[in-house]
This record gives sequence, structure tokens and C-alpha cells, in this order.
Amino acid sequence: MQLLWLRSDLRVHDNTALTAAMEQGPTLAVFLISPGQWLRHDDAACKVDFWLRNLVELEKALGELNVPLLIREADTWDKAPEVLLQLCSEHAVQCVHANEEYGINESRRDQAVQQSLESTGIRFHNHLDQLLFRPGSILTRTGGYFQVFSQFRKVCYARLHEAMPRLVRMPDAQQPLSIGSDAVPGQAEGFATPSNTLRELWPAGEHEARQRLAEFSDEQIHYYQSERDFPAKPGTSQLSPYLAAGVISPRQCLHAALMGNNGEFETGNTGTVTWINELLWREFYKHILVGYPRVSRHRAFRPETEAVKWRNAPDELAAWQEARTGLPIIDAAMRQLLETGWMHNRLRMIVAMFLTKNLLIDWREGERFFMRHLIDGDLAANNGGWQWSSSTGTDSAPYFRIFNPLAQSEKFDPEGRFLKHWLPELNTLNKKEVHNPALAGGLFGVANYPSPIVDLGKSRARALAAFKALPHRQPA
Ligand code: FAD
Repeated sequence: MQLLWLRSDLRVHDNTALTAAMEQGPTLAVFLISPGQWLRHDDAACKVDFWLRNLVELEKALGELNVPLLIREADTWDKAPEVLLQLCSEHAVQCVHANEEYGINESRRDQAVQQSLESTGIRFHNHLDQLLFRPGSILTRTGGYFQVFSQFRKVCYARLHEAMPRLVRMPDAQQPLSIGSDAVPGQAEGFATPSNTLRELWPAGEHEARQRLAEFSDEQIHYYQSERDFPAKPGTSQLSPYLAAGVISPRQCLHAALMGNNGEFETGNTGTVTWINELLWREFYKHILVGYPRVSRHRAFRPETEAVKWRNAPDELAAWQEARTGLPIIDAAMRQLLETGWMHNRLRMIVAMFLTKNLLIDWREGERFFMRHLIDGDLAANNGGWQWSSSTGTDSAPYFRIFNPLAQSEKFDPEGRFLKHWLPELNTLNKKEVHNPALAGGLFGVANYPSPIVDLGKSRARALAAFKALPHRQPA
């Protein structure tokens, strides 16, 4: 018997471990419910709910292949070896197949599982699946991990020219086994059920993910370059929750994009090239996670920035978290996050820079808050995005290039459509005033909307001074 251990690969199409297992013989699948571990990782309730909803769909899809899905509890991952060993002995499993995951705790868990299985003669295969390129396979000439994205991408391009990662064939159904599937729990302990509105925005299942990908790559991808920065437009794929949970694979994304661009990834349509570029950023940050494990432990990528004197300002942090900073672009973005579990990329950069520069609050506070609310929360991308915005990361924004939230708002939401959608209290303002209601309302401001909690000019100067005070800072 072969055992497929599902983690962040909740699909049957193009699933390397599934196909490898079924090619070797009769297969059954397991998913471990680990609420204690998920809480330690700050996984959002809406994300855990998304996993469980996807498991329900996956159970049906596996059922068509006659692969039963078992659900076991391992509250924290230190229990995983014991739980899996027990399952293997119950079903005479000879080999366990999984798809690689790259966080430090994930790697340690897998090593412990491998050791315990192999000590009883059971094999463990961890397959490359979550990425196009295995971490450690894209290195500098001197054998190190890249720290600069453009250089990393160049080598990725060269690899893609040599060989395009292939989609894995979906296996045929196996003979039915005499093992029944378990019911997928509707909820995990310690995680609240999200609103129906949120759930409806992110329907579960591969069918939905593949349809989104098809619609995006057929219609929208060609406009991606020009529309991706405007949060009022549906300019991006909104596939991130599906990619993070592995309901769709990066190979499927890459192939769909190439289909509309004559197989080209470096040239041709600029929308397609830019979108593939984003898929490569996803790769880059996961490689960083493996190459520089300190970022997995919440340390700054640039050690000298550990000395930044972040402010302890709980009231301002709470205002940012609760969407009441008095700056519409920040508050609208934070409302989008709180209500939908997702935030537009441009806005993620704007709110992250505002927190870490204008409020001079530690990026780790923002990283944690995002993780606790994002349906697409991913350690590598989230950490990469936060360290980019706070100028503590690899290839990050230079500390002296600080976004002005008002200028960003006017540039990327010129009509104020996004602002008014999320802040209907500003509906009466015209498209100029809506970005900065403090000016429109004169002394009294706008009813029901707070005054800005911070002066943008002074806080910018404060941030510059804090970074300039660092011993080995980047040259300005
Ligand atoms: P599209 O624009 O359609 O891009 C396609 C896919 O490429 C995305 O689904 C995503 O998987 C990947 N991608 C795009 N941009 C990036 C990027 N900058 N870094 C890494 N991968 C990228 N992305 C996450 O998936 N999870 C996170 O937890 C996360 N946290 C972030 C935090 C901050 C502060 C910032 C600035 C960015 C963060 N991102 C994160 C990256 C990016 O904002 C999202 O991937 C993107 O907004 C998802 O929307 P989409 O699927 O429509 O993306």
C-alpha cells in the first residue's frame, strides 16, 4: 500500500506525489488536522476554513480515483511521526509520498517523519511540486543563494529555455479499496468560521481554481501590466489563496500563461511576461526561505536593520489594524483585508510601508497581523513582502524611498472608486477630496471619519532619521 500525505497540495490534477504514489500501487491518502500548530503559525481562521472546504472537494475528486481520504489529528507536528507510523502499520503501508514544503518547521517535521518511517523499513518520498525550481537548484556562480531578484530570474529564464517543467499526468482510477473515507470536519478547534460573504468570494475546489486561471489567462492577462496596480479594477488573477493551498499548481499557471503567448515567457505580450515575473517572485521568496533560514525565525534579512529603534505605539498599531488611521487608502485597504481575507498587492505595499515607516512600528507586527487575516497567508511571500516594504529584506525598497500614501492613492485610485466602496462614509466627497478628507472638512473634518493619526511629512523625516542612525546602512 502507498500513502499520499496531503499538505499544501489539495488537488488531483498535476499533483506529483499523487501520481507517483498511484504509479507504484494501491494508494490511500491522509490529511493531518493540526490546530495547535496552525495557531503557532498564526494561520488565519479563513485560511484554515478554506483548507477544510477544499478537502471536502478533494475527497470527492479522490473518490473518483477510488482513493480514500483519511483524516487524522496531530495537534502539533511533533505528533506527526507517531500518527503516521500508526496509520502505516494499520494499512501495511510500504511507502509514504508527499510534496515538499519549505518552512523550517515543515522541514524539521518531514525529517522526523522520514527518520521514524525509515527506522521501521517504510520509505518516504518528498517530491518537488510546490515550485517550478527546487531550492538549491538556482544558485550564483559561487554556489550561494541569490539575494537579488533580477539575477535569480535570469537563471530561471535560462532553465526554462533548457526545459519547461512538465505537467504531471493525472492517474487513472485504481481498483476500489475496502477502506472508507473519513468525514472532513467543518471546523478546527480554536478557529472561528468566517462569514458567508467571505466564503462566497473564495469557492473551494479545483474546478473553481482552474476556471479562474482559464478566465484570467484567456481575457485579463494581456492587460495585466497596465491594470495590475489599480485596486478598483479586477486586474490580477486572485489565484493566491488557491496557489497557497495548492488547489492549483505553479506549473498549471505557467502553462496557461504560455498558451496565449506562443510559448514565450521572456518576450511577447508584456502582460503575460509580467505575470510570469510574479510567479518567479513567488519562487524567489521560497528560495530565500531555504537559503537564509533566519527569515523563517522572524529575523531581518539585513542583520544591521535589527538595530532600528521601532516605536512601541499600541494605539497607533490598533488604529492601523482596525482601519481607523484617518488615511482613506490605508483604511480602505485594511477593511478589504478584514472583510475578504485578501488585499490587493499595491495596497499591501502601501499599508506595510505606512506601518513600518510613517508609524515606525516593527514589521513583525504587520507580518503577524497579515498572517492572522490572510486567506492566502504564506510565510515566504508574506515575510518577503514585509521585509521589502520595511527595507530590512533582500532586494528591498531602499529606506529613503518612502511611499506617500496620499500620492499613491491619487495615482492608483484616481476616481476614488476603491476608497468609496470600502469607506461609504466618504461618498459625498469629490474625487480630489476623497483621498484626504481632512482637507475637505476644514476644521471639523468629515463626520464619522477620523482625522489622520500621523503627520506624513514629520513621520517620514522620523523614519529617515531612524534608518540613517544605523551603523552599516545602505548608502542613500
Ligand atoms: P497576481 O498578481 O495574479 O499574481 C499571481 C501569483 O503570483 C499570485 O497569486 C502569487 O502566488 C504570486 N505573486 C504575485 N506577487 C507576488 C509577490 N510580490 N511575492 C510573492 N508571490 C507573488 N502573497 C501571498 O501569496 N501570500 C502572502 O501572505 C503575501 N503577503 C504579502 C505581504 C506584503 C506586505 C506584500 C507587499 C505582498 C504579499 N504577497 C503575498 C504578494 C502579493 O501581494 C500577492 O501574492 C498578490 O496580491 C495575490 O493576488 P493575485 O493572486 O491576484 O496575484
